[in-house]
Amino acid sequence: MLPQPVKAADITDENSAQTYLNQAIMTTFCRVLDSSRLPPDVVMRLLATALGQTYREVAAAHQDGCCPCGWRPQPASDIETLRASLEDAAVPRRSDDLLSMTAAGRA
Ligand SMILES: [Zn+2]
Repeated sequence: MLPQPVKAADITDENSAQTYLNQAIMTTFCRVLDSSRLPPDVVMRLLATALGQTYREVAAAHQDGCCPCGWRPQPASDIETLRASLEDAAVPRRSDDLLSMTAAGRA
């Protein structure tokens, strides 16, 4: 079953934010792929570059405590966390991975 579409106004927690971002990135990826005729791996690299640039710009805006939210960027550990998240999400899932399987019935 596909997840229900999430609108920006429906974002209330980390889970709904993840679903919204997944949808937005897939939509953007498909539009760029269709319009540019670039190969998928090139569009993926461009997406990763855009994420890195977003990090750099947001981190720069948070230097010296300029933002009241209180986030203090730690580039080395933040970038390592981003790398790990990318790798974790990108690694192919094994079809026999019990944790990722949906229960087919009830015992
Ligand atoms: Zn902030």
